[in-house]
Amino acid sequence: MPADSMKRIAVLSGAGISAESSISTFRDHNGLWRTHRFEDLATPEAWQRNPLLVLEFYNVRRKQLFEVEPNAAHYALKRLEQHYHVDIITQNVDDLHERAGSTSVLHLHGELKKARSTGNPDLVVELTHWELKWGDKAPDGAQLRPHIVWFGEAVPNISPAIQIVKKADILLVIGTSLQVYPAAGLLGYASQHTPIYLIDPQATGHRDMDNIHLIRKKAGEGVPEIVEQLLTISI
Ligand code: NAD
Repeated sequence: MPADSMKRIAVLSGAGISAESSISTFRDHNGLWRTHRFEDLATPEAWQRNPLLVLEFYNVRRKQLFEVEPNAAHYALKRLEQHYHVDIITQNVDDLHERAGSTSVLHLHGELKKARSTGNPDLVVELTHWELKWGDKAPDGAQLRPHIVWFGEAVPNISPAIQIVKKADILLVIGTSLQVYPAAGLLGYASQHTPIYLIDPQATGHRDMDNIHLIRKKAGEGVPEIVEQLLTISI
């Protein structure tokens, strides 16, 4: 099928899609923010106060990321590209969508395997090793910091994400508690005729939106199921 005649699917993914790859979520019963205070780890003030603690927190996450693999949900989304134009907007900082083969992935909250200069936010480097240390410098000589959007920082990729959602014929929302803005507000940009599928064991309806379909399953089960249905109806 020519790419420009394909229907467009936008995907908004959150920590839940990576849970079955053994990456902890943030707000679940065993999520990271139950055992850590985000104010100490994921804010510009935390970085000013104690950069070593912040580096250590992300080093642990990055080390784990080098050891885990994409799961059935990530791979199913790649299969959708056979018959649809698929754009993934992810709140995740892992690279599991890319490693499953998805070709259009927009990271709203940064990427764990990248670092950037504290002197120039546009100077971003790839990390090939899990450990980022105090004293590791960007090409401009400034200290490197994790390439993560911390609480209180702007979300530069929200504008392209809004455009993706506005153009979508179908929206899949996977494994997100929809508590973090502006990401959670993206649902409001979908056309009122665009079917929205929420795939999350804790998914709940939205009073003012009757185009929402709830699939209360884990991503590893619910995503392959909806993907097979979408591939079947596209033929
Ligand atoms: P969240 O922790 O607030 O919510 C996780 C959601 O996933 C919950 O609604 C939960 O019911 C659901 N969930 C748990 N297991 C699931 C499974 N197997 N299948 C499907 N859904 C499942 O996460 P969020 O909404 O993404 O919060 C946003 C913030 O968390 C973002 O800033 C993101 O950067 C960050 N985060 C990212 C990662 C990662 O990169 N993998 C991990 C943890 C947190």
